[in-house]
Amino acid sequence: MRLLVIEDEQKVANFIKQGLEEEGYAVDHAADGASGLQMALEGLHDVIVLDVMLPKLDGLSVLQQLRQQNITTPVLLLTVRATIEDKVLGLDAGADDYLTKPFAFEEFVARVRALLRRRAETAPPILQVADLALDPARRVVSRGEKKIELTPREFTLLDYFMRNPGRVLTRTMIANRVWDYTFDSTTNVIDVYVNYLRKKIDTGHDTKLLHTVRGVGYVMKVP
Ligand code: CA
Repeated sequence: MRLLVIEDEQKVANFIKQGLEEEGYAVDHAADGASGLQMALEGLHDVIVLDVMLPKLDGLSVLQQLRQQNITTPVLLLTVRATIEDKVLGLDAGADDYLTKPFAFEEFVARVRALLRRRAETAPPILQVADLALDPARRVVSRGEKKIELTPREFTLLDYFMRNPGRVLTRTMIANRVWDYTFDSTTNVIDVYVNYLRKKIDTGHDTKLLHTVRGVGYVMKVP
């Protein structure tokens, strides 16, 4: 279990980090909103502890950007303010739980555990085609033992293919699913992206998984 703590107050951060490590969790720490967002976007964490008042980028903005980019990692918000409006704002922005400072470590860790439990119960299953695997919750892709780095668009594209193994996906279907703006169907942008993706997942492997169906579209399958 790996946690990310985004907290600028060094004393609070140390208190949390040390306590969590004693409980057996791996803990990454960011001291401002901007670097915290970067770390959170990697999608490697099981829970994010997020302070609301942060330098560079405030906690609610971090949270909004994470949710906009489909990072579904549970977030526990920390704040010194606790008006109903603040709580509603935080929950509306996509927080899973809320804790007011100062807090007892026992309560904090109980809430973290509850979020981890809930995540384990609701985590979508890992998608698999041959030795290619995609973990939708952690946003991690691998082929065999090797991790594959994808851009967010490539990830969405691969996710679509892997949820439809053996089914031919036309350019129109892909455009509707992966590109959310009014799509100019005269461009070859889909072919370009499919080729990027193919290079990343198939190059160097004898078994090719992403195939062109001439004049129709593409299909992911084990040949
Ligand atoms: Ca703060």
